[in-house]
Amino acid sequence: MTRAGIVAVVGKPNVGKSTLLNRLVGQKLAITSSKPQSTRDRVTGILTLPGAQIVLVDTPGLLDPKYALQRVMRATAIEALTDADVVLYLVDATETDLRPLTEVAEISELRTPVVVAFNKADLLSPTQRQEIAERHPDAVLISAVTGEGVDALVQRLIDLLPESPFLYPEDDLSTQNLRFFAAELIRETALEQLADEVPYAIACQVEEFREERDPVYIRATIFVERESQKRIVIGQGGSRIREIGKVARAKIEELVGRGVYLDLWVKVLPNWRRDVKALRRLGYNVPEA
Ligand code: GDP
Ligand code: MG
Repeated sequence: MTRAGIVAVVGKPNVGKSTLLNRLVGQKLAITSSKPQSTRDRVTGILTLPGAQIVLVDTPGLLDPKYALQRVMRATAIEALTDADVVLYLVDATETDLRPLTEVAEISELRTPVVVAFNKADLLSPTQRQEIAERHPDAVLISAVTGEGVDALVQRLIDLLPESPFLYPEDDLSTQNLRFFAAELIRETALEQLADEVPYAIACQVEEFREERDPVYIRATIFVERESQKRIVIGQGGSRIREIGKVARAKIEELVGRGVYLDLWVKVLPNWRRDVKALRRLGYNVPEA
């Protein structure tokens, strides 16, 4: 009998959840960034091995519900924990304190089994490695960047999955559609190119995705919160938006494996991050307050 189930990858922003998911699935699915909070929604990757299938759910991180967007992110993360067969709690090995997941997530009880993995092992000295091994004998030490320890981690996860037939066809990489990933790649590119000029005020939505055309036709909108931000995103004579479009198009072409025509627009959606209606329009799953 095969094993199959859902593994929710959780942890604080920036510990390497997206990087690990990308390594496991072997294709760039989740957006990675050196800025925290870059994964705003659940991204599912599927790892199918000879006897086992792991359905991975990346979560946006468990944050203080300071404003609407963060509340959405937190609710999504907690929902992912409850739905999962196994929770993979990823921590940054270079940070010293390990708080129990139940405390970080502010949930009183979690019935799902938890595997703790210390990531970024490549940054540790031999002494630090030994300390972690002694203090947390049940944890796995990994590096999502070099791949160290990742096979052992996968085996540990598989052992905890229920016996079950595969949940998805063997060659499916992800249950999310290309539209979603295209929007994420555009947003990632915009964040890269705008540095700190328009921090976190950016959302992206794909309005039209025509796979039957050659090249594939994609019309997408970058949303910002203010006119001043719109001017920055567009740049002198449209130079900035053209460059974002060029780089994002190359990334999307790699994803879909075909030529792409990217028709990119910038619009102001005032204060969308604090506006529940705007968040819903952008596809965020906003819980009732
Ligand atoms: P997330 O917010 O948890 O999804 O974190 P990301 O996957 O976006 O990674 C945050 C940052 O940590 C990025 O700059 C990654 O390149 C970096 N990172 C992730 N895993 C490792 C690792 O194993 N070693 C090192 N040195 N850096 C890592
Ligand atoms: Mg992430």
